[in-house]
Amino acid sequence: MFMPIIPQAVRTTCPYCGVGCGVKATPLEGGGALIEGDGEHAANAGRLCVKGSALGETLSLDGRLLYPQLRRDGALERAGWDEALDTVAAGFARIIAEHGPDAVALYVSGQILTEDYYVANKFMKGYVGSANIDTNSRLCMSSAVAGHKRAFGEDVVPGCYEDFELADAIVLVGSNAAWCHPTLFQRIAKAKEARPELRIVVLDPRRTATCELADLHLPLKPGSDVRLFNGLLAYLADAGVADRAFIDAHTNGFDAALEGARAGGDVDEVARACGVDPGQMRAFYDLFARTEKIVTAFSMGVNQSTSGTDKVNAIINCHLLTGRIGKPGMGPFSLTGQPNAMGGREVGGLANMLASHLDLDNPRHREAVRSFWSAPRMADQPGLKAVDLFRAIEAGTVKAVWIMATNPVVSMPDADQVRRALAACELVVVSDVSAHADLAPYAHVLLPALAWGEKDGTVTNSERRISRQRAFLPAPGEARADWQALCGVAGRMGHAGFDYTGAHEIFDEHARLSAWRNAEDDCHRLFRLDALIGMDRAAYDALAPMQWPVLAQGAGTARLFGDGRFSHPDGKARFIASAPRLPAHAPGGEYPLVLNTGRLRDQWHTMTRTGKSPRLAGHAPEPFVDLHPHDALLAGVREGELARVTSRWGAMVARVAHGGGIARGAAFVPIHWNGANASDARVGALVNPEVDPVSGEPEFKHTPVRVEPFGVAWYGFVLSREDLDMGRVAHWTRVRGSGFVRYELGGREPMTFEAARALLGADEDSDWIEYQDRSEGMLRAALLVEGRLQACLFVARRPDLPARAWLGGLFAQETLGPRERATLLAGHPPAQGADPGPTVCSCFGVGRNTICAAIRDKELKTTQDVTACLRAGGNCGSCLPEIRTLLLNVRSSVAA
Ligand code: SF4
Repeated sequence: MFMPIIPQAVRTTCPYCGVGCGVKATPLEGGGALIEGDGEHAANAGRLCVKGSALGETLSLDGRLLYPQLRRDGALERAGWDEALDTVAAGFARIIAEHGPDAVALYVSGQILTEDYYVANKFMKGYVGSANIDTNSRLCMSSAVAGHKRAFGEDVVPGCYEDFELADAIVLVGSNAAWCHPTLFQRIAKAKEARPELRIVVLDPRRTATCELADLHLPLKPGSDVRLFNGLLAYLADAGVADRAFIDAHTNGFDAALEGARAGGDVDEVARACGVDPGQMRAFYDLFARTEKIVTAFSMGVNQSTSGTDKVNAIINCHLLTGRIGKPGMGPFSLTGQPNAMGGREVGGLANMLASHLDLDNPRHREAVRSFWSAPRMADQPGLKAVDLFRAIEAGTVKAVWIMATNPVVSMPDADQVRRALAACELVVVSDVSAHADLAPYAHVLLPALAWGEKDGTVTNSERRISRQRAFLPAPGEARADWQALCGVAGRMGHAGFDYTGAHEIFDEHARLSAWRNAEDDCHRLFRLDALIGMDRAAYDALAPMQWPVLAQGAGTARLFGDGRFSHPDGKARFIASAPRLPAHAPGGEYPLVLNTGRLRDQWHTMTRTGKSPRLAGHAPEPFVDLHPHDALLAGVREGELARVTSRWGAMVARVAHGGGIARGAAFVPIHWNGANASDARVGALVNPEVDPVSGEPEFKHTPVRVEPFGVAWYGFVLSREDLDMGRVAHWTRVRGSGFVRYELGGREPMTFEAARALLGADEDSDWIEYQDRSEGMLRAALLVEGRLQACLFVARRPDLPARAWLGGLFAQETLGPRERATLLAGHPPAQGADPGPTVCSCFGVGRNTICAAIRDKELKTTQDVTACLRAGGNCGSCLPEIRTLLLNVRSSVAA
């Protein structure tokens, strides 16, 4: 009798943000996988945000790099792995022999697994003999690392996610957690629902979705965080809540820090300097003073700054003063952006770090690692941090770079400089899952890497929890793990010690290094994995999520520093006195606005994965520049039109939006669009390359820019079953719909029927429908193949074009009926339904207009009412903050 094999769900970890949610993935017969939250994973207890829920839609091999490629005579050609690795090894060896080890570099990523990171770091720092290995985590949380090191003596997040539920107050600083750490935010929302007395304070120049849960929002001036927290330190001391016993027994530097903080003036002066209402500032300070159980969580708004490290320390100072650290419900908490930023830190993945929380500038530490690795050539000085690394490549001092799982042409500040650097580089090796358009033109060697669902290893989330990423799909084409590619090159360069048979052996070595000489005073660190040493493949495969340090079998450690012992040699924490500094470049003159950059709710990094999911495309289908209406007026741009945003470093084009949360003088642009999905929307090209002097983290949140109209003769969109060449259109962006690709366009060349045919790929014999109204500047056309809609184009003088939802739905039909065909170019069905508006709930595809109408017509009062009526918000909950805003707006307009 035939017995169907029911595939087992594989427990793995989400590859996106630093919350590190557990995922259960069940491979499906026709490809892809069913994705559910893992109810047994402590980070998320079964919850997933909309990005995690849509992981199953991102697993196609569309756009994947499947075979090694080598550049020959200017063109990339398929090659075998042996030939590709020979080329890399020979290139690295030659350049090292001719120019020394610092002439080569690795630039890796918080996306790679700890095992890949470990091997990359060992290869560079112990065998090549250079610390020129940096990571895109430099752009994300290196200020938190530096702040932790200065305060605690080690890069340690003291608390855990449970503290957010146990706290009586949560302060979110520079963190749009509702969009960037959604399941943790949902956890906070649930805690507040259960205990409405839980106070939430948001410190952010923007009124983000996170503010919908806040009791207090302080829209502080960009870059004024140090001033604000110094003010808080002085206030707490004056309020008599300093824990003198803790300060005396467990810290150094208090008096100097307090003296420095007092120099900032009284609360009114601080409030003025921060641009905050003094009454609100006082309310926040008072709340902090009287709340023992308080968590201060911070993210990119703190880290991505030229004073990022000082901001981190100014926050930590306030927790040290009150002794509120390492105990349930209290402490500073760094929310990391990437899935394995923390794992990279464990293995020393930054250019100024050594493996296993040891220090590169400490000779005893270097010797400890050298002897453990039997390393022939230890790096003995810090390598180049990301911005300096790409400058050195452009200057020709670094002649070979191996880029792994990241796209610096998009994500780095002054990203056009990165293009120049790579164009000038002798040897560019790119390991990636995607054959993307941004890096491929510069690559001499392309190496296909395993993607999420195919690779095997560990990641560590923001609360120090190590979780397994497990493979549940076969390796496609000839893709290999990054550690295998690294070992292949290391072996070819004659290095022993890279003959691992599996990721479990690398993890075992990593665990053993964590215990190596750890009992010795001058090598002591809290990062330890003693109880995980000696795992064989089966034990590694069965490894349950666990927070380091792991000192006893089966048990991690939820909190650290509760005993008042820190990692500095004297066991004490340090207050760091920081004078407030202004951001590197002030707005004014040609560049009157301050550009802030950040993530969107439904996209991840450069969209190579999330961009494959049609449901994730609906929330924000194209790049935008969010402006205050007054600034838009001054700039001569209107909502819905295209604008050019220009800084001293570069320019981009985006749609003007008024999200409502932007202060005057500011602008916000999302980070996700790259050279493959937009003609000119890489915001990194604009961002100033100034960095924090301690951490080297760039200032992504503060670049002076100007905004001006991007003049076009027409606006339009194309929906097409196939990718089209938009090369001649002045501006275009692209997202994937269900069964079609959606292009948004702005054109300068006149759009004629002839041009429309050329654009959509129609010829004289095609089944072609067209309509034109010259007086309105309107042109519409559609191409059908055997009765099926192949592509359609809508053009108008103004950007008010038909909604895309109904037209997009026609691509699901095998043939168009006569009525649909007849009304196709009207852009809406024969019986006009209401336009649902832009997507709010991606899980159920519910639009803003639909929700607003239901709130108004059915007198809905709560998010639960909206969910009961429309299902919106009833799955992952990522859209609940937006639904709350709509409830507020619609109900107040009805009341008025
Ligand atoms: Fe993934 Fe969302 Fe969880 Fe972040 S919050 S790890 S993106 S499911």
